[in-house]
Amino acid sequence: MENTSVNFIHEAINKDLENGIYNRVQTRFPPEPNGYLHIGHAKAICIDFGTAEKYNGVCNLRFDDTNPVKEDVEYVDSIMEDIKWLGFKWDKVHYASDYFDFLHECAIKLIKKGKAYVDDQSADEIRAARGTLKEPGTESPYRNRTTQENLDLFNRMTKGEFDTGAKVLRAKIDMASPNINMRDPIIYRILKASHHRTGDKWCVYPMYDFAHPLSDAAEGVTHSLCTLEFEDHRPLYDWVLRELDFEMPPRQIEFARLNLNYTLTSKRKCLNLVNEGVVSGWDDPRMFTLCGMRRRGFTPQAIKSFCEKIGVSKSNSVVDLSLLEFCLRDDLSHKSPRAMAVLKPLKVIIDNYPDDMVEEIEVEINPEKPELGMRKVKFTKEIYIEQDDFMEEPVKKYFRLAPGKEVRLKGAYFITCNSWDKDENGNITCLHCTYDPQSKGGNSPDGRKVKGTLHWVSAKFAHDAQIRLYDRLFDVENPSNEVGVTDFKDNLNPNSLVILNGCKVEPYLADAKIGETFQFMRQGYFTPDYDSKPDALIFNRTVALKDSWAKKN
Ligand code: ATP
Ligand code: MG
Repeated sequence: MENTSVNFIHEAINKDLENGIYNRVQTRFPPEPNGYLHIGHAKAICIDFGTAEKYNGVCNLRFDDTNPVKEDVEYVDSIMEDIKWLGFKWDKVHYASDYFDFLHECAIKLIKKGKAYVDDQSADEIRAARGTLKEPGTESPYRNRTTQENLDLFNRMTKGEFDTGAKVLRAKIDMASPNINMRDPIIYRILKASHHRTGDKWCVYPMYDFAHPLSDAAEGVTHSLCTLEFEDHRPLYDWVLRELDFEMPPRQIEFARLNLNYTLTSKRKCLNLVNEGVVSGWDDPRMFTLCGMRRRGFTPQAIKSFCEKIGVSKSNSVVDLSLLEFCLRDDLSHKSPRAMAVLKPLKVIIDNYPDDMVEEIEVEINPEKPELGMRKVKFTKEIYIEQDDFMEEPVKKYFRLAPGKEVRLKGAYFITCNSWDKDENGNITCLHCTYDPQSKGGNSPDGRKVKGTLHWVSAKFAHDAQIRLYDRLFDVENPSNEVGVTDFKDNLNPNSLVILNGCKVEPYLADAKIGETFQFMRQGYFTPDYDSKPDALIFNRTVALKDSWAKKN
């Protein structure tokens, strides 16, 4: 998909190129490997990789793994898989941890310049002395240590002489700065923890605000695109690069985070849902993680076109989930072959149809793509239709099957319902119908009209399947805010997963492969679940044909 839109990021880059500040464009996508990627990350990925593509530049993948405590290889692998699935290619893979030596040298340079000092205050003391938006902070009693003393202490911190939290290294900037981030931010801390890549080599670890600009600069990033919450950190980003004398320092540009109503776009909150068993895992199809969406049947194209549509804005807003679903339907409708599946089967016996006859009915593979032609569906005396497609006492404007009423079976024949059987509880178990042999192909033989067209499957040839109907996990627009943040459980939609067993599907669906989607006529888009097996088919509903939430609101 060629990206021709111009947004404020591209305008800024154009200016930089015109002014000769840079002669090339390099970006990076910098996830912290502490969870799976979600739809919010997809926006950042489209912006980071999309911008590089637009300028024939490169985009690196950089794992921001400066916090040893929360990170894991499992996450590294999944992040790479998700980016590839979206269809983007990184130039190189980097790890912030690869720069630990370089970052440590940079810290020593700052100390030597008199721009960093070791502070013995506790985290609480430091926080308390930071001041507020209205009041300046208070300088640390350790702020004026000599360079020699700072070098010695930082060296001993690095060797592991002090306990976790006993000392920190702070940048010496300005405790009275109106920007709290500039009030002597911590740049290194002691953490006696094993790192997933560097093992026990280090017991001091750089803070994000120190590691990030330097990692960008080390890689030759020109434009460091990030989300709006880092806007206030930009002065610090620039300070670090200036103090360390980088010649063509990267420029940070911020854009708004994606917020999607009815969903959580935060790794921490997603992890919470997984840990508390609210969902079956990171790839539960109700999760808006990329792996959950993939399992649900989302396509990369749908996600990318969604990101394209929401654009790049400079102010935070909440995007409606139905826009994402719109993009999904839009993509699936031309990609998905049609199929017939009966979710809640009701047996129909066509009394005047020969007992052992099997006819091959032709239906379009996809009416939106006539070039694909037709496929054959077997028609027999006994078929299944949906329970909902029959009413013993039809309400007004009910155009489906009812006593004495005639309907069209998709691609097959007109049938009329004559009688029905019930079990001892009064439930209808079977309909008896007659068909009009002259209506073959579902065409009216004499101009008489039938309004309803039903989908059906042959009882003899259908396969059993389990069908999982997914809906929004939450039934409030802002699940993390409306109740105390710890308990989004109060906001759960009790019908977010409905499992139907004994569904009847067309035999060709038995060969459906993971990643293929189908439009089940009148029902929506479906894809085989990872747990599906040839003798125990399982389909996930990716999205219904229509937005049922639009009506409710
Ligand atoms: P989370 O809050 O889910 O943990 P994060 O921002 O901490 O998200 P990172 O791994 O640091 O996650 O994110 C990698 C990149 O993706 C960052 O550049 C970040 O700004 C971006 N990103 C994360 N969430 C969103 C979002 N909702 N919308 C747009 N970009 C996002
Ligand atoms: Mg983060």
